[in-house]
Amino acid sequence: MDQSPLDLKTLTLPELVSLVESLGEPSFRAKQIFRWLHKGGVAAFDEMTNVPARLRTLLRDRSRIGTARLIKEVQSSDGTVKFLFELESGNRFETVLIPDFDSDGVAKRLTVCVSSQVGCAMGCTFCATGTMGFKENLSAGVIVDQVRFVDQRARGQYGRGVTNVVFMGMGEPLLNYDQVLLACQLLNNPDIFGLSYKRVTVSTVGLAKQIERLADDGIPASLAVSLHAPDDTKRSSIMPVNRSERTDLTALRIAIQHYVRVTGKRVTYEYCMFDGFNDSVTDAVNLARVASWAPSKVNLIMYNPVLGKDFQPTPEERLNQFIQVLVDNEVTVTVRRSRGQDIDAACGQLAASAG
Ligand code: SF4
Repeated sequence: MDQSPLDLKTLTLPELVSLVESLGEPSFRAKQIFRWLHKGGVAAFDEMTNVPARLRTLLRDRSRIGTARLIKEVQSSDGTVKFLFELESGNRFETVLIPDFDSDGVAKRLTVCVSSQVGCAMGCTFCATGTMGFKENLSAGVIVDQVRFVDQRARGQYGRGVTNVVFMGMGEPLLNYDQVLLACQLLNNPDIFGLSYKRVTVSTVGLAKQIERLADDGIPASLAVSLHAPDDTKRSSIMPVNRSERTDLTALRIAIQHYVRVTGKRVTYEYCMFDGFNDSVTDAVNLARVASWAPSKVNLIMYNPVLGKDFQPTPEERLNQFIQVLVDNEVTVTVRRSRGQDIDAACGQLAASAG
């Protein structure tokens, strides 16, 4: 039997209310179903035990509950865990748990890096996921499922749940805009997950129009922009998105200034350090100029070599020189040592072929 194209886990609450009312049932039933889907994480209509059988049958005939099942999990020597999931379509994506420990070895921060798409259409040349091309969007429900699954796992292992969510797994979140927005709302909803927006970060390759929309939609999640090169020529050579004047650095500057003006938040630039490509003193000066567009900070990421890609990580000495130039130009800068490198869970390394 063909599956219904309507996946209930893609619907907002008002959309679910409309559906339920169109089936002759009161709106409070929609709230019950919404809770079963996103809080309960049910995979079948019959698990919704307080929903009348008649309504469950009507829903089953018209819709489906899209789910993902765990295929594999691998733990890194640094505690990072990568989970491989498979959708009904057979497409696979990954989710990563990144624990940060204090000096006593207690997990003080448990970050889950979620995927928002299977594969990615953006084709960044240094990224394993970009090599796959785009396969499909994930529903808001499956994005939240990733957090719930990892949260339960973290509680079992560390005695506390997920503290932070970053949309930095597979995919370009702002190309799956509506579902990512709904997922952010579900994560924040006290009745579903109750995570402060301060602890949710949406990371984008820099889609200018969607950045402006994110600001205008009033979702106060944090914004991270994958910059990776500080001028148009270099950026276009590794990030095809930059080749369009709708998404080049000029468009990005306008969008970011709009975002910061509307939200009052600062933006984070992710900058992966590539040996001999974007790590010179001139690059640092150019990066400082980008950072001065609006209140911001820069995250320097030590690159993890990806098989078949030409780039290598910047040597420590050049990294220190680069940081010094940024500091001299009053840029707030942090260095992120990549995690989970031995299990290909680090930035740019996610590719479902790992299954
Ligand atoms: S770096 Fe991000 S946007 Fe670029 S190809 Fe990889 S997943 Fe897509």
